[in-house]
Amino acid sequence: MAKIDTLCVHAGYKPGKGEPRQIPIIQSTTFRYETSDQMGRLFDLEDSGYFYSRLQNPTVDIVAAQINELEGGVGAVLTSSGQAANLFAVINIAQAGDHIIAANNIYGGTFNLLGVSLKKLGIDVTFIKADAEDEEIEKAIRPNTKLIFGETISNPGVEVLDIERWANVSHKNGLPLIIDNTFATPVLCRPFQWGADIVTHSTTKYIDGHGVSVGGAVVDSGAFPWDKYPERFPGLTSPDMSYHGLTYTRKFGKAAFIVKATTHLMRDLGSIQSPQNAFYLHLGLQTLHLRIRRHSESALKVAHWLQHRPEVAWVHYPGLEDDQHHSLALKYCPDGCSGVMAFGLKGGRSYDNRVLDALRLITIETHVADCHTCVLHPASHTHRQLSDDQLKAAGIAPDLIRLSIGLEDPEDIIEDLRQAIESAKA
Ligand SMILES: *Cc1c(COP(=O)(O)O)cnc(C)c1O
Repeated sequence: MAKIDTLCVHAGYKPGKGEPRQIPIIQSTTFRYETSDQMGRLFDLEDSGYFYSRLQNPTVDIVAAQINELEGGVGAVLTSSGQAANLFAVINIAQAGDHIIAANNIYGGTFNLLGVSLKKLGIDVTFIKADAEDEEIEKAIRPNTKLIFGETISNPGVEVLDIERWANVSHKNGLPLIIDNTFATPVLCRPFQWGADIVTHSTTKYIDGHGVSVGGAVVDSGAFPWDKYPERFPGLTSPDMSYHGLTYTRKFGKAAFIVKATTHLMRDLGSIQSPQNAFYLHLGLQTLHLRIRRHSESALKVAHWLQHRPEVAWVHYPGLEDDQHHSLALKYCPDGCSGVMAFGLKGGRSYDNRVLDALRLITIETHVADCHTCVLHPASHTHRQLSDDQLKAAGIAPDLIRLSIGLEDPEDIIEDLRQAIESAKA
């Protein structure tokens, strides 16, 4: 198989004679057929073909195939956002009355999705520490548990998950492991190689890489043996009455999970990616391998520099040799740990804010993981309604500053931090 850099440029699309070199944007909601029978067979899932862009669109499919190849799966579906991707991945196998387990250091949006919105829909969740021992994870498993969920590199704590260990515990108990691989991207880590069963992405971050389009993806490894646990996964192993009683595992084998996500969830929930945004994602993917390594190299330089400043209390970046997660980073992300880090300053909250205000090149944004370096202080921004004690309870240090290193010259980024840290002291 071609190497990952080649796949970034070529996967998903091979134009034939006289066809466009770059992927075409098929900006059409509907597709034409010649006979009533042709159309009928599509609705029976007897033939594959396009009929309505809420289910499938040729441009979107090219990019889904590209991400699928990069991750090494059997199929992928693009969604309107990363939130939708994680929602789809979970509710494709869990429903009211079920229970799921997730690492407690996951992205705040996903934490709310699982802990608040899905709870209201009747799916119960137990959050456990990402470094929990195997026994602790197993203790949280109930008869109605359907899946386990974690992030390769957590946002914003930048902690690396021991995917192989989590996968082993999951499989020992007949459960699939879903990994949100947003920060690592398939260039830095391919979770399927370590036993993950389903991978999700917020493509809004490094895959897009330029801050232009919101999107998500769900990728299926095809490796989880749903048929072995028919009672636990009836949605995949028993007849779907909304498709004339077809059974996904019987009809689609290894691709059962992803076919159900596309034909059933996308049909009913409609959280589609647009052809135009899929095109932007494709452009981003074609340079992802170059960008993510540069993000990682620059971040390591900045993290080293911050570590040696007297004004800096602490720095978390798994690429640092003395970071708590460095050995996991060497195992799972040997080529780099992305551009995101967290650090704290010694001067208290008003100093934090003066430093942010003094930045000239680095901008204050809620976004991360694109070509522009940006910074966020959760205690003053996204989590400003919480007291310091409440912040600590939510696992967010009151002095935590999240820094996302872009593609500028790292010396200019360091110079901007230096002048802000020094001028804010006066
Ligand atoms: C941003 C993010 C999401 C949510 O993605 P959106 O595209 O903003 O909906 C999910 N997981 C992680 C790790 C993220 O960083």
